[in-house]
Amino acid sequence: MIEKIEHIGIAVKNIEQANQVYQKILGVAPYKMENVASEGVQTSFFNTGESKIELLEATNPESAIAKFIAKKGEGVHHIAFGVKDIQTEMKRLSKAGFTVLNEKPKKGADNKLVCFVHPKNTNGVLIELCQEIKITL
Ligand code: ZN
Repeated sequence: MIEKIEHIGIAVKNIEQANQVYQKILGVAPYKMENVASEGVQTSFFNTGESKIELLEATNPESAIAKFIAKKGEGVHHIAFGVKDIQTEMKRLSKAGFTVLNEKPKKGADNKLVCFVHPKNTNGVLIELCQEIKITL
């Protein structure tokens, strides 16, 4: 089950500059910045009520974000749906004919398990599924 729009990801060229812009728009500072080396991105997150804004800057020229910006420029990159059980949703969507880009969920930013669904059969929108990683002590 899809629970909500967890966040919207925006590809930016310069995250320091974009942080200032979104701080002005949203009236809050980013609550965290996180480098995801495996994806070649620097991220920052803003709280906007129920959902968040994720800014993404490429940290290497081979990353998906660098390629996206080279092709399309800055802008909305993906919509992330929060789910309770990412494995079940991945199976459900791939059975329904969508192209799930990861065989297994991977560790994303902001303490999440994530996977992506190719935009070719989602009317042009890259979709991320994400599930909060529960920390058990
Ligand atoms: Zn995201």
